[in-house]
Order: sequence, then structure tokens, then C-alpha cells
Amino acid sequence: MILRLALLPFAFAASSAPSDAITPETAAQLARGTFHEYLELLSLPNDSVAPADIQKNVDWLERAFRKRGFTTRQLPNQGKPMLYAEWPVKGPAAKTVLFYMHLDGQPVVPSEWSQQSPWQPVLKKRNAAGAWEIVPNQLLFEGELDPDLRVFARAASDDKGPIMMFLAAFDGLREARLDPVVNVKVLLDSEEEKGSPSIPAVVKANRELLAADAIVVHDGPRHASERPTLVFGNRGALVVTLVVYGPKQPLHSGRFGNYVPNPAIRLARLIASMKDDQGRVTLPGYYDRVRLSEAERQVLADTGEDEAAIRRRAGIKIAESVGETYQEALQYPSLNVRGMAAAWVGDNASNIIPHLAIAELDLRTVPETPPEYLFGLLQEHVEQQGYHLVKGEPTDADRAAYDKLASLTIVSAGRAVRTPLESPLGQWAYDSLLETSAGTHPVRIRMAGGSLPTDSLVEILGAPFIIVPLVNGDNNQHTFDENMRIGHYVEGIRTAFGLLRTPYQ
Ligand SMILES: [Zn+2]
Repeated sequence: MILRLALLPFAFAASSAPSDAITPETAAQLARGTFHEYLELLSLPNDSVAPADIQKNVDWLERAFRKRGFTTRQLPNQGKPMLYAEWPVKGPAAKTVLFYMHLDGQPVVPSEWSQQSPWQPVLKKRNAAGAWEIVPNQLLFEGELDPDLRVFARAASDDKGPIMMFLAAFDGLREARLDPVVNVKVLLDSEEEKGSPSIPAVVKANRELLAADAIVVHDGPRHASERPTLVFGNRGALVVTLVVYGPKQPLHSGRFGNYVPNPAIRLARLIASMKDDQGRVTLPGYYDRVRLSEAERQVLADTGEDEAAIRRRAGIKIAESVGETYQEALQYPSLNVRGMAAAWVGDNASNIIPHLAIAELDLRTVPETPPEYLFGLLQEHVEQQGYHLVKGEPTDADRAAYDKLASLTIVSAGRAVRTPLESPLGQWAYDSLLETSAGTHPVRIRMAGGSLPTDSLVEILGAPFIIVPLVNGDNNQHTFDENMRIGHYVEGIRTAFGLLRTPYQ
């Protein structure tokens, strides 16, 4: 009964039409109409280390978008093109939304998977003992669709599932003879799992083509509560290498102990001076710029996190006291030691005073405290502890002139981006999800803790973004046995359809 699509004439809907959510039953039928394609797409390897594989995925997806009536274009990117698609029917007064998803996937170690190949999707269901068991693919096509079935394959949920849900929503529009009430553009990244190194260049080269009033990202899992989820921002990451220099070369600790200062001890003291016992960064001005209104605090509390469970999972008794809750803690910049080294440990440890000690730091940034601001505070603090900062190995003249020598080197600097909760984009997405879910209030994540390559998209296009994650939280993305829950697939279609049919003022 579902579309094997011949081009049908379109019925044009007035752009002022109210959003009209589709029923779960209709969404299940639409899902069914895409499962053959979904399984086919999942059997195309998509690690972007192999440009030929990426090309196959792009070609396949280009056909899938075209047969639904999109115009498409492959955006050149050193043999790993990105796919651009655009819905040809425009409302002249309607806002333009750029939907961003990615077609590449994480690398795989096939031996870790409990199926023959991560590139041969299998359908599974939990048996009475709670173990996953392979069941016939036919269950996707016959009888009532079981929401607890799961498709296991690389990229099943990250991020090919959402691409297929998005296409299924267009199948639904076609069946209902409707058009979206926003102007639709689509960008499928081909290197997201490598950190989107090519996004800035590709977006700059196609700025006009990609121009939009807003960006919607369909990627990542829903909130742990499994309520419909909106993510309004994410922190950036400033990565810095801190080196404290000791003697010119490692020295015998018997002959020089009590005489030559040890850089490992100095580094330990320096790092310890950066945070207090409650885990708060002591650098003056680190948190001052972040102000949370009562309404924002309420939104943070509304996520309903089980703090005790988070601490139990982490294996800690007491959390650091930067924020009152887990969500509040993520609204501030952080300062973390991601690694430390001086000389050797274990069998190679020897009785020396090391010649240097290294700490790798990552400072999560927020919009109020961009990388250059936090780096400035860090530099000031290190200098205030009596250090003279050098660039690279100190010279003999440096060593003669200064007791304490250190260097601070920026490895990478990513910016945070955040869309205000009350912005038109935030309101539009919130209203749409609320309607689709028949009144279940969406979880609003003001800022996710991790970092995404959204900053260059947002900065270059000058458009706000919002993340609307569609997949199950326990999907094992980035590791073995990645899977997509069919119930989420069906609901994702409803969410995508709802967004396309909600007028955006
Ligand atoms: Zn992803």
C-alpha cells in the first residue's frame, strides 16, 4: 500500500496550514515503505577513510532523494563528496531550514560484533532470557510492526536511520499530497565521524546554496528519559599542552635529590592550584560570565536527571560543586587534565629527576567564555604562579634568567554554540515536538557537555541551530552492535513530519 514512487501531481497546501501530525499507524506504514531501502543503505560500508565507499553512499542517497522529487547536487570534497538536496517547491514567505545529517560512519572491528558483518544488517529481538536473537527480516514487513525489534548494523542509528526517517516523512507528505510549510534544504556530511574536518571549506564554497534561516541537526540519541528531546547548544573544547621544564637532561636522583627542583612536583603543584577541593576552578573570572535566569534553571531541572544514578554509574560518592545539578554543571566552562606524563612508571621507572613534565588539558568552552578568553586566564594564572612562559624548549639564556619555566601550546580550539531557549527556532521546534507527542513535554537540553562540529556551520551560515535527536539512547553508536529500535524509527518519522508541517514564523 505504500509508495513505490511514481511521480504524482502535488497538491499545494497553504503555508498557513496548522501542523498536522500523522498517526503512529500511518508512521508505521511509512516506515515499512522504507525498510528495503534502509537495509540496502546499511549494507554499504561508510567509513570515510575509503573515498570509494563514500562515493557509493552518496550516489545511493542521491537516487533516494531524487526519486522523491528533491533536486540534488554532490558537493566536491576531495573524492568524498557531501550530498546537497533541496525540495523544489518553495513558499516565498516561508523560512528556510537546512537539515544536517551525516552519511559516514565510525570504523568497525568486525570481530567484536555478534553478527557476521557490521555491513550485513540483521534484525533482532530479545528472547525471554533477555538476550538478543536474530529473527527473520520478514517481521519488518508482515503483521503488526513490533516496536521492540532492532536492526543491527554500523550506522543503523548514527546516522543512516535518521536520514531514512526524514525520507519516509517526505513519503508521508507525498501520500497526503502536502508540501512542507518550511523551505527545505538538506546537507549530508561525509566526514562527520572524523570531526567534520572539511565542513568549513565545503560550507564556505557553497555558502549561497546552503543559506538558511535555521539549521536542524538530526544526530545523536534522545535524552535518557526517552522523552522527545531538543538540544540547544554544545560546549566547545580548547585543548592545551602544558609543559613544566626541569634540568636540561634527566639527572640521578641520588646525586641531585634535594638540590635540583623536580618538574613533576612543580607541575602537580601548578595544576593543584587551578582547582579547589570542591572541584571549582580557582582562576579569577572563570565562571563569572555565565548567568542563569530562574526560567533557565527551571528548564535544567525539568530534564529530571537521576543524580544518584549518574554518580553510581561513575563510581563516585560526591560530585564536584560547580553547578547544583548535573545539567547545571554543563552550563559552565570546565578545566580537565586529560593526561599527564613525566619520565616512566612501572618496569621502566628509574631513579631520576625528569627533565620535564607534561599535562594535557582540555577546557570545555561555553559561548560566554570562548577559547581565547579561557586561554588568557590560564596564561595569566601560570605566570602568577611564578612561571616564565617560553615557546618550546627553553634556551640556556632562559634557564640562566628564570627559576620556573613552562610552555602553554594550543592544540585545538573549538567554539561553543547555543541557541536561546526562547528564540523563534527553539519555540518552533518545541511546539512541533509537543504536538507530535500529544502533549509530552520535550526535554530541553540547554547545552550538551560534549563538542560537535556545529560551530563552523553556525558561524559561516550565520544561522542558529538546534539538535533534534531521533534514535534510542542505548543504540551502541560508535562501538560494536550498533542498533536502531524500530519504535524510535517510527516515532522519528512522526517527529520529522511534524517539523516539516509546523509553520515557522
Ligand atoms: Zn552521528
